[in-house]
Amino acid sequence: MYVSDCISINGSGNLTIGGADTVEIAKEYGTPVYVFDENEIRKNLAAFRDSMNEYYGGNGLAVYASKAFCCKEMCRICMQEGTGIDVVSGGELYTALSVGFPADKIVFHGNNKTFDELSAAVENGVGRIVVDNITELETLSRIAAEKGRTAGIMFRIKPGIDAHTHDFIKTGQIDSKFGFALETGEAMEAVRKALTMPDVKLRGLHCHIGSQIFDIDPFELAAEVMLNLYKQIKDETGYEFDELNLGGGFGIKYLESEQPKPYAEYMKNVSAVVRARCEELGLKMPFVLIEPGRSVVGAAGITLYTVGAVKDIPDIRTYVSIDGGMADNPRYALYNADYEVVCANKAAEERSETVTVAGKCCESGDLIQENTKLQKVEPGDILAVLSTGAYNYSMASNYNRIPRPPVVMVKDGVSRVVVKRETYEKITENDI
Ligand SMILES: *Cc1c(COP(=O)(O)O)cnc(C)c1O
Repeated sequence: MYVSDCISINGSGNLTIGGADTVEIAKEYGTPVYVFDENEIRKNLAAFRDSMNEYYGGNGLAVYASKAFCCKEMCRICMQEGTGIDVVSGGELYTALSVGFPADKIVFHGNNKTFDELSAAVENGVGRIVVDNITELETLSRIAAEKGRTAGIMFRIKPGIDAHTHDFIKTGQIDSKFGFALETGEAMEAVRKALTMPDVKLRGLHCHIGSQIFDIDPFELAAEVMLNLYKQIKDETGYEFDELNLGGGFGIKYLESEQPKPYAEYMKNVSAVVRARCEELGLKMPFVLIEPGRSVVGAAGITLYTVGAVKDIPDIRTYVSIDGGMADNPRYALYNADYEVVCANKAAEERSETVTVAGKCCESGDLIQENTKLQKVEPGDILAVLSTGAYNYSMASNYNRIPRPPVVMVKDGVSRVVVKRETYEKITENDI
C-alpha cells in the first residue's frame, strides 16, 4: 500500500516499520524522530556486496556512500556487512575511523579537500583518495612525501554523461565543479603527472554520473567511456590500471509511480559491459568499485512528526503544520523533492484530503510536501514521511536553533536510539 518494503500496517491500523508500531515509537522517543529498519539497510548492503561476488567474481567492492546517512552505528553496520565506506569530508572520515573502520576500505571524495583532510587521510592510510584536480594532486604528493607514505589515489573523471533526467544526455559536459574533463585532455595530463610522482600510487579512475537514476544505459555508457580512456592511457603511456570505480546513483522509490530496476539488474548489465569491453580492448579485468548511497538507506528510513495546527484556507489550500520541517529535511525546500506522507495512527484509512505539509521554521518555503494526499488529520496525530533515510539526517541543520531529532533503529520489531536527540545545551555549547 505504501512505497517502502519495510512499511506495513498493524491490527490497530497504525503504520509499522520493521515490525515496530510507529505510534509507539513516537510516544517513546518523542517527535520529530528519524526511524530506520536495520534489516532493510543490511539487506540492501548485502545485495550490493553479493552482486560484486556474483557478477565480478569477488573482484570488486561495494562502498557505501556515507554522505547519504552517516553516524557511528551506520559505519559499524557497513563494517559488519563487509562493505567499504566512502567519505567526502574530515567529519565523515573521523566518524568511520572512530568505530575502527578499516582504512584500506575507505574511499575519500570531494572537489576541495583541505590540507588537514588530506593529511588525515594519508596519516590514517585511507585506501583510495579520489583526487579531483591538479592542485590537490600536488598537495597530496607533498603530504605523502613528508609523512614518508604512499597515497593510493584515483582520479575523478567527467565522463560527459548527464544522467540526472530520465532522458539522459551524452554531451561534452565539462561544466561541473567535479573532476577532470576528457575532451580538454586534462585527464590524460593528470595521469601522466601522477605517474611521475613516487609518493602516489594511481590505482584507477572514478566517475559518478548523478543520483536517483532509474535507467541502466547511462551506467553502461559511463563504463564504456571509462574503459575507452583506460585503453587510450595504456596506448599512450604503457600504464594499465588495476581498478575502476563506477560511482553510485541508483534510484529509489519515493512515489508509487516510480519503478526503479532491481539493483542486481544494474550490476548484471554493467558488469557484462565491463567484461565485454575489456576483452575487446585487450585490457585486464579491473577490480571494480561501486558507491551506492541513497539506494542503501533511502527507503529504509522514515521521519515521524506530530501534527500541530491545521489551517484550512478556503479555496486555496490546507496547511498541516508539523513539529519539524526544513531543519530536519531540507530536500523539498532545496529541490522540490517528492515524498509520500501518511498519518501513522490512521494508516489504514483512505488518504482523502489534499494538503500542504508545512514545517515550523520561520520561512514560507519551509514545506515538506505540497498538494499531497493525506488522511484527514487533527492536532496530535502522528505524521510519517516515507523514504527519508537518505540525505535527511545528513542534511539536517539547527536553523532556528531547533535541535536535531534522534535516530532510532528498529531491528526485528525492537527499537533503540543510535543518535541521541540534540539538546539546547548542546546547541549553545560552543557559544562564548
Ligand atoms: C553522492 C555520491 C555517491 C552516492 O550517490 P547516491 O545517489 O546516493 O547513490 C557516490 N559517489 C560519489 C562520488 C558521490 O558524490
